[in-house]
Amino acid sequence: MGLLDGRRALVFGVANDHSLAWGIARALHAQGATLGLSSVEALLERRVRPLARGLGIEFVEPCDVSDDDQIARVFERWREEHGQVDILVHALAFANREDLDGLFVDTTRAGFQRALDVSAYSLTALTRAARPMLRPGSSIMTLTYLGAERAVPHYNVMGVAKAALEASVRYLAADLGPEGVRVNAISAGPVRTLAASGVSGFRDMYARFRDTAPLRRNITPDDVAGTAVWLASDLSSGVTGEVVYVDGGFSILGVGLGE
Ligand code: NAP
Repeated sequence: MGLLDGRRALVFGVANDHSLAWGIARALHAQGATLGLSSVEALLERRVRPLARGLGIEFVEPCDVSDDDQIARVFERWREEHGQVDILVHALAFANREDLDGLFVDTTRAGFQRALDVSAYSLTALTRAARPMLRPGSSIMTLTYLGAERAVPHYNVMGVAKAALEASVRYLAADLGPEGVRVNAISAGPVRTLAASGVSGFRDMYARFRDTAPLRRNITPDDVAGTAVWLASDLSSGVTGEVVYVDGGFSILGVGLGE
């Protein structure tokens, strides 16, 4: 018996086997959920489909989340095959590389719009597309980072996008709560992924994190996935609109002296 037997989960954001989305997908699958994956088209055949095959996942669809037609197509295909969305995972983000280096003050209007569109607005767009298939007990989750609340070197416009994302979680939770649908965010500590490698200074931050965080270790995709299973399941049935920290306690510190 799995915690998620009979649940149908659609996961956006698998780039490769290091992706947080992939860790979450594996964990949802291990608890009995039926999975579908969506990712940008360029990654699909070479990266995502082979991973999906390993878990026996047949639903693998392309979607650039800045394109409403592509979003509509994925959900229409999902509706035809599965009819309901019990779990929706939004684990994706994008900012121009040059905006994750140097100073926030130099962010261009176009760079700002692109980062906010892909990394924040997309959660609302996906939720709206899923809404006819959501039902009481459905759970939506996204991934965020401490840079939403604190100024983190080089996180820049992505921090502003994550702040908008976290606010969106609260508004969506308020909108969908009366329908019995929950919306939450997981704020993860640094994990080595493709997206993380685009933030300059990440390696340094990753190494220092381990010495500073109360648990004195880095965060793994499995740490994040465990919390995702909890949020997806009825174990968290009273929790909505929250940002849950999976960061070894890093965010509680006022001064991080470490070792
Ligand atoms: P990842 O493996 O690189 O996954 C990010 C995914 O977002 C990639 O598949 C990427 O595709 C996709 N994406 C970018 N633009 C997109 C678009 N327009 N439409 C659809 N998908 C798009 O990195 P990750 O670290 O697992 O990131 C997952 C989430 O966790 C992100 O929201 C990230 O901000 C968050 N997070 C990560 C960390 C960390 O340290 N890794 C910490 C806290 C929160 P492309 O490769 O083609 O761009």
